[in-house]
Amino acid sequence: MNFSIVVHGGAGPRSPDDSEEEARQGCLEAARVGYRILRQGGSALDAVEACVVALEDNPRFNAGTGTTVTSECTVELDAAIMDGRGLQAGAVGALPPFANPIRIARAVMERSPHVLLVAEGARRFAESQGFSACAAEQLITPKTRARYERERLARSGTSSHGGTVGAVARDKDGHVAAATSTGGMLFKLPGRVGDTPLIGAGTYADDRGGAASATGHGEAMIRTALTTQVCRRMREGATAQEAAEAAISELSFIRGTGGVIAVDRDGRVGLAFNTERMARASIANDLETAGYL
Ligand code: ASP
Repeated sequence: MNFSIVVHGGAGPRSPDDSEEEARQGCLEAARVGYRILRQGGSALDAVEACVVALEDNPRFNAGTGTTVTSECTVELDAAIMDGRGLQAGAVGALPPFANPIRIARAVMERSPHVLLVAEGARRFAESQGFSACAAEQLITPKTRARYERERLARSGTSSHGGTVGAVARDKDGHVAAATSTGGMLFKLPGRVGDTPLIGAGTYADDRGGAASATGHGEAMIRTALTTQVCRRMREGATAQEAAEAAISELSFIRGTGGVIAVDRDGRVGLAFNTERMARASIANDLETAGYL
């Protein structure tokens, strides 16, 4: 049986402070973390969680450490994880600062009767499960603070920060899973929740089709139910690549911008984006691929 993994590190416009090599390398290292788990017979769910934790811990990406900030320079994190076995899912939205929101999303899935917890309630749940909140300063890098100051001066409103992270995998037993984590869009209004924690928008997994994780302009992903579309097409027989391309052309139809990664039930990998760049890496049949533009 084939097992495979795909990881993304965000889609968006190129920016002058982008480091292409750092982004590719960060994605590849995270993909290796997940692939090792799959090779040892671990589950797709454990693999995608471990990949996303690695990316959240890498300050190059807009998730966990390295998160972007709201218009009030506060941190509100979104994350979701989904297990394709029984359409189990867990998510957090507008979560106060925690180093690894994806772990809290998994706790919501496994240790609460709910799918999505937000803001203060999510914080209280996380602390009850043994996670410790941290100071916002611990997650906001000097680069992010400088970008925030530039944006504040330009007063241009919500803009793409890039660097959202996600992973999809298919394990030896034929199960699939998806996980996505982000600080959201730079200068978003406090209280704004994007596509990432909304099951079927930014994150979806169904063993009968495959798994998908999106990045880009969250409002457009929500309006197109982007990852649902990818998984539905795979369920109807499209390959991961065909399904990803079709969904991105739907996104383009409403002038939305972004990208998506996918793995289908046979372990084939796919990705598509209509932005200038999307950091990504995949490993299938021991073959590593990484890209940026
Ligand atoms: N999709 C994320 C959001 O809208 C941002 C991104 O992927 O860059 O919150």
